[in-house]
Amino acid sequence: MNKTAVYYTVQEKPRQNKERISLFNFLCFEDYMPWADPSRYLERILVEESCLADDYCQAIVRRAALPWTVFSSEEAEPPPLARDTATAWNTAKKTLALRHYQGRFFKPCPGTKEYRCCGYQVLATGFNCPMDCAYCILQAYLNQPWTSVFINISDLLAELSLAFDSGQPMRVGSGEFSDSLALDSLTQLSRILIPFFAGHNNAVLELKTKSAVVDNLADLEHHGHTVVAWSLNSPEIMRRHELRSATLEQRLTAARRCADWGYRLAFHFDPLIFHPGWHEGYRQTIHALFKAVPAERIAWISLGALRFLPPLKEIATARFPQSTIYRHEFINGLDGKRRYFRPRRVELYQFIYQELQKFVSPATCIYFCMESDEIWRQVMGFSPEERGGLAAMLDRAAFPAL
Ligand code: SF4
Repeated sequence: MNKTAVYYTVQEKPRQNKERISLFNFLCFEDYMPWADPSRYLERILVEESCLADDYCQAIVRRAALPWTVFSSEEAEPPPLARDTATAWNTAKKTLALRHYQGRFFKPCPGTKEYRCCGYQVLATGFNCPMDCAYCILQAYLNQPWTSVFINISDLLAELSLAFDSGQPMRVGSGEFSDSLALDSLTQLSRILIPFFAGHNNAVLELKTKSAVVDNLADLEHHGHTVVAWSLNSPEIMRRHELRSATLEQRLTAARRCADWGYRLAFHFDPLIFHPGWHEGYRQTIHALFKAVPAERIAWISLGALRFLPPLKEIATARFPQSTIYRHEFINGLDGKRRYFRPRRVELYQFIYQELQKFVSPATCIYFCMESDEIWRQVMGFSPEERGGLAAMLDRAAFPAL
């Protein structure tokens, strides 16, 4: 094996990893292994003292069957991670912190006025996840990136109830600061959130993931108020830049199972990334998608080209020295993020949009995440305003009965 290609060493733990074959594996481009359930990567748990008596917390510790230690609630944060960023992140990915969250669980997605924003509401159920995407924006956001799960779920539900009392239609997603299902085999949070949303006619929950952890969703009464979503990319990007994620086939098999259980689905082609063979790669993914799931079950599909806060490039390049995704020309967008030049973005979008058009149901809302009216017109031939605005377009997709 080419030693320069090694990212870090992963010690296999005895827990549910029976299907894994070696004691030590080296995760690198040449040695990719899919992880249908990324929670198996965890090696230890930190429990905030004030959460110790909580049934939800105890159930997670029991299911994980990992070594665990307690940290003082007075510290408000788990103990600091290593100073060097790469070590801190690598440790954080293997360590689950069960914490009491003091902030607001529920807030509008921080879109910017310069680009068309979809009016999404973000639900924080934890931070970070055991997968490791070279482009993960959290690398530029989190100073102490412990993989965290918030234990005070009753506070979270109370905040949601208050917000839903307004009667306004709300699309809510828990995949902004973490992956919605990566830890679900341990937390079983889906079994709390899905029935809760089923009881609110004006709310739809989007669970967004790169895993294949859907067993908990099988027998739930969702009443159409949960949409299960997968981030998709070309097989090459998934293999090289989304460590410990599920393969395309695993994601689509999980999506098909959810469709069979009556859930509506969504897919996010985000971030779209230029790479050798990108036309064929994205075509392959789109064809596989529509072969695997019924088109009419797809509520929405988003497209977003790679964009990132400037500090991310340095952090991600240090952590993923083999990654080529930042070796392109970028401009500074109006929102302060770096993006491909507009003609390059249009090239990506036109290709993907045309491929999607071959299969997509007329009821599916295809939209851009954070793009200008000019891009909308150039690629789709209309601007969101001509159809009532992007938020209204997505509300119609989320609440077809309204
Ligand atoms: S799955 Fe999401 S939260 Fe996890 S590393 Fe990838 S982008 Fe970040």
